[in-house]
Amino acid sequence: MNNSHLCLECGASLSEGVYTYSIDTYNFPLCQNHQRWLDTTLATEEAIKLYFALKLNNIPALLDYVEGQRKVDIAIPGKLFIHIDTQSDASNEQALTELLRNFYSLKDGIPSVTIPAELVQSHYEFNLILDRLVEVCTDLKKTG
Ligand SMILES: [Zn+2]
Repeated sequence: MNNSHLCLECGASLSEGVYTYSIDTYNFPLCQNHQRWLDTTLATEEAIKLYFALKLNNIPALLDYVEGQRKVDIAIPGKLFIHIDTQSDASNEQALTELLRNFYSLKDGIPSVTIPAELVQSHYEFNLILDRLVEVCTDLKKTG
C-alpha cells in the first residue's frame, strides 16, 4: 500500500507530522502553504467542505471564485456556480426537495445553484447533494 500523504490542493507530499496536524486542525490533508491559505480564506466552513469533496471526486472546482463583480463560493469556471446560503430558513427536507428539483433544471443550461448551508452540515443530505453535483458536473464536462 502507498502510505504517502498528499496535499489535497497542490498534491505536494506531506510528512507524517504535517499530515497529522492538518487533519487534526483542518480535517483535510494540506501542505503548510495551503494550511495558511485556508487560514486566510473568507470561505465558510460549508463552502470549504463541499469544495474539497468535489476535488476528491475529480471535479475542477475553485473556492471563492471572482468573475467581474460576481463572487461565488465555489465555481467550476464556465460551467457551474455554486452558492452556499447561510441565511436559508427552509426546513432541511423542504430545502433538499427544492434543491434536487433545481438540479434537474441545471441540465437545461442554468449554470448556478444555491445550496442551504444546513444541508452541507448534515451528513446524509451532504452526500446526496455531492452525488448529484458530481453527476451534473460530469454531464457538463461531456457537453462542454
Ligand atoms: Zn498544498
